[in-house]
Amino acid sequence: MAIMSAPTTFQPILERIAEDIERTPGRGRPADYIPALAACDPRRFGMAVAEPDGTVYGVGDWREPFSTQSITKVFTLALDLAREGDALWEHVGREPSGNPFNSLVQLEYENGIPRNPFINAGALVVTDRLHTRTGDAAGELLAFLRAESGNPDLTYDEEVAASEAAHGDRNAALGHFMASYSNIDNPVPVLLEQYFRQCSVAASCADLALATGFLARHGIRADGTRLLTRSQAKQVNAVMLTCGTYDAAGDFAYRVGLPGKSGVGGGIIAVVPGRCTLCVWSPGLDERGNSVAGVAALDRFTTLTGLSVF
Ligand code: GLU
Repeated sequence: MAIMSAPTTFQPILERIAEDIERTPGRGRPADYIPALAACDPRRFGMAVAEPDGTVYGVGDWREPFSTQSITKVFTLALDLAREGDALWEHVGREPSGNPFNSLVQLEYENGIPRNPFINAGALVVTDRLHTRTGDAAGELLAFLRAESGNPDLTYDEEVAASEAAHGDRNAALGHFMASYSNIDNPVPVLLEQYFRQCSVAASCADLALATGFLARHGIRADGTRLLTRSQAKQVNAVMLTCGTYDAAGDFAYRVGLPGKSGVGGGIIAVVPGRCTLCVWSPGLDERGNSVAGVAALDRFTTLTGLSVF
């Protein structure tokens, strides 16, 4: 039976979701194309909800750091958009791609302009532009995550970064291909180092639910300063809804009904604008690259609370 009034505390709902997930068989498989991720136990599960004032609730492995991977693409997008505004959209689109996250095929037809900032090609463009503007894109990201989560210990996982660099031919191909269209400013090896460091940041569900808070607060950071205009915060949420969960964004919108962004480490962040932010982690992925238990848990959350954008 659905609870349709907004809850006063999220803790009982999280506990109920964790029990439901515990009973569910089948968790998918951890990503194996980055060897350092392949060893994760698919039965790990954590979930956190943060309210706009920084109150955070959690269940399971919600304080356990995991590999954030593509979730970081939301933060680099926001950091770059805050600096350069709409000029960014001349270099990357905002349409779902319908192709796998690391696909090369559309890029040639579309003259080196990636479909959106959340496929790898688009994320490389965003990181490149942020790096040009700051001189240290990955460092800028890390500083932001530390400040918003209130956790000064957040850092890169050098083993994951090295593992990805050693298996990074496809990202290198994307970088070089876009450079041939003059859509990358920095030398491709410099960009790849930044991008792999960015993806390697380890953070927990609690850290990421808190760090995503600016999207529930319509662009306002944890310290009360503004990162994005209200309109830009809406835009980032909209791109998450339409492009944030690989080529399964339609199914995610159908099941969960929230802006979300997943990563191959098994994490997913989600936003209920004005109300709360969520992060769920479980390393077993489906064939599209989304966490099986993570999507199921967010589906349960919106069903039980009635909190969705629809
Ligand atoms: N670092 C990963 C890659 O570029 C990120 C993939 C993901 O989480 O979607 O392949």
